[in-house]
Amino acid sequence: MEYFDLNMNLTEDDLALKAHANKFAREVMRPISIKLDQMTPEEVIAPESPFWDFMKIAYEKGYHKLQFPEVFGGGGLSPFQVALVMEELAWGSFGLTLALNTSLDAAVAMGGTEEHIKNFTIPYCQCKDGSYRGSWAITEPDHGSDTLMANYPSFRDPNIKAQCRARQDGNEYVISGQKAAWVSGGTIATSILLMCQIDSSKGHAGGGMFIFSLDRPGVSKGKPWNKIGSRDLNQGEIFFDEVRVPKEALVVGPENYEAALGAHLCMTTPMVGVWATGLARAGFEEALSFAKERVQGGKPLIDHPTIQVKLFNMFQKVEASRQLCRAAFIYNWTVPAEKRIPEYAMAAKTFATQTALDVTSDAIQVMGGNGLSKEYLVEKLFRDARTSLICDGANDTLSLVGGYNVTRYYPRKADV
Ligand SMILES: Cc1cc2nc3c(=O)[nH]c(=O)nc-3n(C[C@H](O)[C@H](O)[C@H](O)COP(=O)(O)OP(=O)(O)OC[C@H]3O[C@@H](n4cnc5c(N)ncnc54)[C@H](O)[C@@H]3O)c2cc1C
Repeated sequence: MEYFDLNMNLTEDDLALKAHANKFAREVMRPISIKLDQMTPEEVIAPESPFWDFMKIAYEKGYHKLQFPEVFGGGGLSPFQVALVMEELAWGSFGLTLALNTSLDAAVAMGGTEEHIKNFTIPYCQCKDGSYRGSWAITEPDHGSDTLMANYPSFRDPNIKAQCRARQDGNEYVISGQKAAWVSGGTIATSILLMCQIDSSKGHAGGGMFIFSLDRPGVSKGKPWNKIGSRDLNQGEIFFDEVRVPKEALVVGPENYEAALGAHLCMTTPMVGVWATGLARAGFEEALSFAKERVQGGKPLIDHPTIQVKLFNMFQKVEASRQLCRAAFIYNWTVPAEKRIPEYAMAAKTFATQTALDVTSDAIQVMGGNGLSKEYLVEKLFRDARTSLICDGANDTLSLVGGYNVTRYYPRKADV
């Protein structure tokens, strides 16, 4: 479905990227996502699952590496183009878009040493069959929101003892403990960006970021997690039993961990907002198409003024969400790490995910009883939207950190 992008500067390249992504989302992602949604978490990752067809085609087309520079074999897209394409993919499936973006190890390796780039970023970008699958593990069974509240006072609470910890032993670190069942791609990942505590006297701020391959002795995985929505996204625990990694696996140590995590979240959080915009748009478009077809009370639903108002309100929220998320995403992906602004990242993610929930719920309302039926897409979109309010930080706690920043730093001074 064509729509006006409220952007007069789209180039031929931008339009082509968007059209290709939409075709992939429509013809490959959405049909596979609908099938996966009906399967058990075990079936989703079984060898014959269409999930693997999706991964293979997506990697062949390079949709796993959009945001990586060309010099490492990545897509070489501008932040604007990344946002443009990501919205289309998430329109096809929020969960599968997330599944394609779990390899934060490869992304963080870009900011590491030459060895990190050689061992993680480049192989990831060169992978064409989905066999390199990264993961990002930060949350733990007893530590969820608090692990993501960088630059908030509780982050430095020395009473916080994490469940996954690393200690140095000569030229190695030894890692023990576990990460939460929520690790995206957790049970199928081949490598990891692991955030775990090193110096417990600093609370979560005493953490470190490690990058390593998961084929090491002592690593094991839980069963795939069963959940209400984003069922096409595999998630599960990763356990570490005295896992030894070379000290070079450490990318960021306790001295810089809080700043590095904060800067990292400034990039990932608005990306979730961009995806949620695509999901919300899918809900709006489903409801609009349905309202054109359905005749009720002697005329099509779209001729009923209350339905028109509802569809207008949905349209308005999707457009507002896009503008905020794209702006926050482009800003934080363009400026150097120390200039990224967390409150924009959090405003974008919380607004867009709430929009996705509101719009998909309104879509059900517009469609009446049909909207509740599994015969129609919107009930799945609604369940997927529900997960987005918790994914990458519960909206309540993101708002706490956002509020802490806004009340201290607003208005931020522009650099001259
Ligand atoms: C789709 C999806 C993908 C995910 N992917 C990953 C991943 O790749 N890697 C990973 O490590 N994790 C991942 N997560 C986990 C996610 O980051 C956590 O679920 C989220 O941070 C919330 O943590 P929790 O579930 O432990 O809830 P809790 O932290 O227990 O929070 C429960 C409720 O209490 C509120 N709350 C918590 N602390 C406070 C406070 N200090 N003040 C006020 N209210 C508070 C929260 O806002 C929330 O409403 C994913 C989750 C989802 C849903």
